[in-house]
Amino acid sequence: MKQLYTYGLYLKKKFHAKVSKIPVGLSGFTCPNIDGTVAKGGCTFCLNESFSPNLAVNSTKTFLNLQSTANPILDKQLEELDVQIVTTRERMRQQWGSQKFLVYFQAFTNTYAPFETIKTLYERALAYEDVIGLSIGTRSDSVTDEVLEYLAELSKTKEIWIEFGIQSIYDETLMRINRGHDALNVEQAIKKAKAKGLNVCGHLIFGLPGEDQEMMLGSAKAAYEWGIDSIKYHPLYVVKHTLLANEYLQGEFEPISKELFVDTLIKAIALKPDHISIQRVTAGIDDDTLLAPAWCGLPRNQMLAAINEAFKEKGWIY
Ligand code: SF4
Repeated sequence: MKQLYTYGLYLKKKFHAKVSKIPVGLSGFTCPNIDGTVAKGGCTFCLNESFSPNLAVNSTKTFLNLQSTANPILDKQLEELDVQIVTTRERMRQQWGSQKFLVYFQAFTNTYAPFETIKTLYERALAYEDVIGLSIGTRSDSVTDEVLEYLAELSKTKEIWIEFGIQSIYDETLMRINRGHDALNVEQAIKKAKAKGLNVCGHLIFGLPGEDQEMMLGSAKAAYEWGIDSIKYHPLYVVKHTLLANEYLQGEFEPISKELFVDTLIKAIALKPDHISIQRVTAGIDDDTLLAPAWCGLPRNQMLAAINEAFKEKGWIY
């Protein structure tokens, strides 16, 4: 049996401890694909609360962007950050025996704010006991050279990751999901981050509208070639009150089946160079905001059991 190279293994080997990611979502962050800078409405599948429950509680009417000259809600953001780090760190210590932590700026576009705000928030997170680094989720069109250079400097002493949504390398798909940037933009951002010595995680979605398996695997191959260090594979699922929900209800979009997703996942992993760690092999949402496919509403352990079963047949352990 072959042990697949997971992100957990990577962290364990590097830090000799159980390292967990503390997800945070802060008021004031938005996305250029939502606020009208590159588009309005966001990606067709996006209802951001579905990715980060913290946001539902902490919403504010003030939103930041790269041109913001002041941040009137910085104190509120710091307060939210403190609460989320302290409570989640404690829970992870108790439940999982976590010893060290990466603070994961997850919701929306976490480099889409004035540089001083980003710096203040990141440094506050890094000051916490047992926090060894950061993972920053963002869009490839929202990372300035100033931020990349700052992160590169931080990475000399801390574990710094930047996570880019790649989703697909096909521009026709990116147009169809209203992504607001093309594939070249992501490729260039990944290569730039790598050239500065940063760790990069890429996110891919299987089951995007109009894509067959060949295209999904084409995206995986390209992402590997662009130099990512880690990968998250997601199925596309439909959340109520999104643009994708309309397409689905009008019969214009058919969600990926569990069988096709697992088969694509296995083929994508088989193509993956061994040094790229796997951070995620599926995703779902087990509440009544899920519209389809039903299998994405299965409890996480059931979903993983089905995937592990398929891995076993390949001789893989995850
Ligand atoms: S880039 Fe992320 S936050 Fe922005 S619209 Fe797309 S999914 Fe939503």
